[in-house]
Amino acid sequence: MKIHEFQAKEILRQAGVAVPRSIVAKTPEQASAAFTELAGKIAVVKAQIHAGGRGKGTVKDNADQRGVQLVKSAEEAATVAKNLLGKELVTIQTGPEGKQVNQVLVEEGCDIARELYLGIVLDRAAKLPVLMMSSEGGTEIEEVAAETPEKIFKEHFNPALGPQSYQIRKLCKKLGIDGPAARAAEKFIKGLCKVYVDTDCALAEINPLVITGDGGMIALDCKMTFDENAMFRHKDLAELRDLSEEEPAEVRAGNTGLSYVKLDGNIGCLVNGAGLAMSTMDIIKLHGGEPANFLDVGGGANVDQVTEAFSILLDDKNVKAVLVNIFGGIMRCTTIAGALLEAYKKLDFNVPLVVRLEGTEVEEGRKMLADSGIDIIIADGLTDAAKKVVATVA
Ligand code: ADP
Ligand code: MG
Repeated sequence: MKIHEFQAKEILRQAGVAVPRSIVAKTPEQASAAFTELAGKIAVVKAQIHAGGRGKGTVKDNADQRGVQLVKSAEEAATVAKNLLGKELVTIQTGPEGKQVNQVLVEEGCDIARELYLGIVLDRAAKLPVLMMSSEGGTEIEEVAAETPEKIFKEHFNPALGPQSYQIRKLCKKLGIDGPAARAAEKFIKGLCKVYVDTDCALAEINPLVITGDGGMIALDCKMTFDENAMFRHKDLAELRDLSEEEPAEVRAGNTGLSYVKLDGNIGCLVNGAGLAMSTMDIIKLHGGEPANFLDVGGGANVDQVTEAFSILLDDKNVKAVLVNIFGGIMRCTTIAGALLEAYKKLDFNVPLVVRLEGTEVEEGRKMLADSGIDIIIADGLTDAAKKVVATVA
């Protein structure tokens, strides 16, 4: 689960991790008032969307307006807010359609001496969280990782203990951080790692992590993602979810207990089990097709779920055919065939439907489909299913 920069910074502030003072604004007037309240000579107006690269990103239809901009007066803050609010911001992470800006953060200007990178993620191979730092702050860290991986320094730490002081000294030495900044780093990094563990983060990324002119350390940007499987024990964090930032079909699917991820292809897939869903997408691609989605209806799909799943697929205008691939393990093929037929009747099915059933009561299930009189293409095996569905859209 993703949250906004201003929400992540509030979590850091409460945990004693240094962040600049800032105020959220939803109107140009609020942005102007925020500038006055911060009472500094300069401030930065920052679009709040669930995507990075805002500093280099530009507003659709107004290439002069970037997603992060320095302002020197209350009027200027209002103008920039006006240029951003309600508009689509296109960044390297949003795709060409961009993301609508519904609020901006007005933040005090920071005296930047150095921009560094800091990220914490789970290293599954090491079974430990890993702290990564680099002197290449502010830039795309993916580029640094690909081209000059030796510039990224890593320290694993025990989640119960946090990183040890010697580990932080080691990182500081490699990055050339000394004096007051090294002392600030110890407090900052220990605090941040504690937040990472306490809130069940999947990712905590500070880019740029700034060393200020007076030797302080402060988070100028913060991206925080939480492990959704842990949200049940963080009711307060779950409230930070911003559904307007998420793909509407994915939200809809989540409400029905379906796992759905929208993709760019034209073959809709309805599958039970995540592994089978992955192989279904693979085999569609192997035979020259493009899946329109990942969709796992789960082990015990009922009529409502299957109907909702079909309805989500058919609402996607890119979908030109649907492949149903069900393995009746826990669920019987007759149950799913019954659900399919009922869902089919309820919906306006206007694209070819290919069905591959296998498993418990498969003969009876196939017979139900064949006897229904509905125009369904029955497939025998995965390869046959993929070939048939790809042929319908060719
Ligand atoms: P993004 O990563 O989405 O581009 P950032 O928050 O990292 O957005 O901002 C982009 C750049 O803008 C930063 O690298 C930094 O140089 C500058 N910046 C951001 N916030 C401030 C601030 N409060 N004061 C001064 N400069 C800032
Ligand atoms: Mg950034």
